Amino acid sequence: MERLQESNLPVNWQQLSSVIALQLVWQRHYEVITDDATGFQQVRFKPKQELAKATEGIESPYDIEARYRRRYEVNWTGYMVHLSETCDDDACHVITQVMTTPATVHEVNCTQEIHQALMDKGLIPSEHFVDSAYVDAHLLVEAQAQGITLVGPARPNVTWQTKTENAFDFTQFGVDWEQQKVVCPQGNQSISGSPLSDRNNRPIFKVNFSRSDCTDCPVRAQCTRAKLPAARSLLLMPQLQYEALKSARAIHASAEGQQRYKRRAGIEGTLSQGV
Ligand code: SF4
Repeated sequence: MERLQESNLPVNWQQLSSVIALQLVWQRHYEVITDDATGFQQVRFKPKQELAKATEGIESPYDIEARYRRRYEVNWTGYMVHLSETCDDDACHVITQVMTTPATVHEVNCTQEIHQALMDKGLIPSEHFVDSAYVDAHLLVEAQAQGITLVGPARPNVTWQTKTENAFDFTQFGVDWEQQKVVCPQGNQSISGSPLSDRNNRPIFKVNFSRSDCTDCPVRAQCTRAKLPAARSLLLMPQLQYEALKSARAIHASAEGQQRYKRRAGIEGTLSQGV
């Protein structure tokens, strides 16, 4: 690349897509190290742990936007296509929106854009049936504000309490939003709370229970695995998101919710045909 820079080539080589691709691949995988004393330069091949995130990794010099993705048991390099289709019982089903992103763009980051595109076309659905990857608490609330009911299995809470029989997950705690207090299954009130941000920089609230309540609590094993004398603490979303998620999970778990969600099945056929 340095030789090219020094050269007097009659073409604008910096703009050539093959040169750009090569430059990006080299920058990702190699580093030039200069010896301070001698000025001697060496090229170092970067180990895997030093590579930039997969979202930035060029997989093919022939298509520099293609990205590697693994979803469940499927691996591929390329893109992700998001199809929206009507699902009325009494009308033929029509594809209303197609969106394509590099494969590493997560579905949850596409829901809002899809809704906006449908709104712009005047094709906003009253209900939007999606798979779990397109649902989170914030999207449920944002969709509601746009007049859309987002229907899909919200991803499960992954704390150990949700996977252990009789353990106390967040749904077993009563929340007084006005007082910003939480009551545990033993009837004890939280003693402190502090606002924090989650990894997407969205507001969450951490509440703490009292060490004196939790240390000798007869059901402590069902509640916390924190080392003594630490007490139980809980992370809560803002009220709107918390309630939207709780209600979406309850609806989806009901027989009626499951029946209603079957409407989404048609799009799987369309996706299969597309693939
Ligand atoms: S461990 Fe603490 S928070 Fe949990 S039930 Fe017992 S007293 Fe309540």
